[in-house]
Amino acid sequence: MLILGQSPFGEDETTGSIMEKSNFQHKNIQGPLAKILQQTRSLIAFHKDIGLSYPLTPKIKNFLGSFGTDIGRKDKSLKKTAKKKQTVPPIRPAIILSDVRRELGDCTRCPLHESRKHLIFGSKDVAQVPLFIVCDPPTRENEKSEKPISGEAEKLLLKMIAAIGLNQENVYITNIVKCCPPEDRSATAQEIGTCQPFLVRQIEAVSPKIIYALGPLAGRSLLKTEAPLLRLRGKFHEFHGINLIPSYHPEFLLRHPDMKKPAWHDLQMIQRKIASLNV
Ligand code: SF4
Repeated sequence: MLILGQSPFGEDETTGSIMEKSNFQHKNIQGPLAKILQQTRSLIAFHKDIGLSYPLTPKIKNFLGSFGTDIGRKDKSLKKTAKKKQTVPPIRPAIILSDVRRELGDCTRCPLHESRKHLIFGSKDVAQVPLFIVCDPPTRENEKSEKPISGEAEKLLLKMIAAIGLNQENVYITNIVKCCPPEDRSATAQEIGTCQPFLVRQIEAVSPKIIYALGPLAGRSLLKTEAPLLRLRGKFHEFHGINLIPSYHPEFLLRHPDMKKPAWHDLQMIQRKIASLNV
């Protein structure tokens, strides 16, 4: 049983290996060299996930690309977003989620509609809840289950919010874009920008005290910054007068158990903030 205020992750999981443990093999590369290559790729992917970037030569990008990663392609899009003038309308009161869903309709406003199977609006309708959770774009797995987060990642998220005394009734969960990008690529700045007015309307409808932004894109796109998640997490920012805390996506935490410790720190900050706001 989970005891309120205890880490949902357990001690051993907060000190595991950073490296992903998959059975990687590539073409004729095997043995110790394959292992080194796998670890290098995992480490660079890990840096990408926490928002650290550094120049890679075209040769290295091609090499990493041959393993099906988009490491080399990130993330000029956010640069554009950061430079763009703030166009998000101010939060206004007195709308409900079903109004926003109706406004969104069978949306074709950005290219993501072309490859989607389902538009994922958010978790079940609520009136007003203290915690608004916004995740990075939905994946194919999320799309299949028609949920903003699913599978083991959803289970972990529910454990995380239970650890701070919340449950599905007092949180609302959605994504920064409502359609899954093709081939599980990242969403572009244009796609995020096109969808964002509806996210803002959802926030307006739910009127939360805290926004918990999960993943490298979620917090950065709302805060209009290029700063890495590593630097954004661990503190509250302000989004239209609402406390916003960026943190790691549960999917990422499953792959990188070492990062559960800072994630638990962020959750405890939310718990203290909710207590101080008396909600
Ligand atoms: S991602 Fe958003 S803006 Fe783009 S098609 Fe889907 S609902 Fe419309």
